[in-house]
Amino acid sequence: METQKLDEAGIDSAGVNARELLCSVLDCEKSDLPFLNDRVLTESEKAIFSLFIARRAAGEPLQLITGKAPFRFIELAVCPGVLIPRPETEVLVGEVLSWISARDESAIHVADIGCGSGAIACSLAFEDARIVVEATDLSPTAVLVTQENAGRLGLSERAHVHEGNLGEPLGDNVDASFHAIVSNPPYVPTEVVFQLGREIADYEPLLALDGGADGLDVFRELLPWAYRALVPGGLFAVELFEGSFEEAVRLANETGFIKTKTVQDLAGRERVLLSWKADATEESAAEANAKNHATEESNRRGVLS
Ligand code: GLN
Repeated sequence: METQKLDEAGIDSAGVNARELLCSVLDCEKSDLPFLNDRVLTESEKAIFSLFIARRAAGEPLQLITGKAPFRFIELAVCPGVLIPRPETEVLVGEVLSWISARDESAIHVADIGCGSGAIACSLAFEDARIVVEATDLSPTAVLVTQENAGRLGLSERAHVHEGNLGEPLGDNVDASFHAIVSNPPYVPTEVVFQLGREIADYEPLLALDGGADGLDVFRELLPWAYRALVPGGLFAVELFEGSFEEAVRLANETGFIKTKTVQDLAGRERVLLSWKADATEESAAEANAKNHATEESNRRGVLS
């Protein structure tokens, strides 16, 4: 019956949504539902369930009604004012973890810029015990939610949260401090933000979505800081809009990053940009290369003059 209401309201996977909401009312797991078949809902449970169904039918995202969102191996508390974690961001985190897994340091320092609900910071710290994350966000709500999530997951010792714009709250002495800098900045081009469905536009924070005319405003602002704050050989990993990669790669190269790689999301769209700062060997190779070029150039001039 309740499933039908969601179906009629045009909600995809109405059955799954109804079951999730029922579990939230009964405070149980979906796998418990078959065993609760004969359980009659109390009057107040019925009232809450109907209210949840009505909210979902009106387009409110499931995660904002239940107050939680699954992300990789953890579950995060979410509320209005933070972006609901997306599967695309799971890809970003997977790439960062696989790069980190090949490093042999006993402590890995990571910055998560624009942490939102803390999905990136918490899952990195949760999946690799060597990781210490400094997370920042301009939004006080995001800072609180990330702190709560880190606390609930027992990660407060290794996931620290700071309020402020991009890298600013981490202070001035950040040169060469991070092995990896990770970010899911607002990256949707302004024109596209207005084409996003109502579920997003009406319920999720514009601050976390709108990336300016070409979607790269925040990326541009973050690039020079990220370059400075990375150790030689460090990784800058960012989630971006599918149409922004050509320009983003150009900007990364212009900033000094020596190597970039693009990774697709599960829908096959370009989604994650990985850029590396030169390590000591690459740096001297690049310098030697530049020197060779200069010598060749002056030899050539010599011949010509
Ligand atoms: N992936 C999000 C969306 O398309 C955008 C997130 C962001 O701008 N960081 O809704």
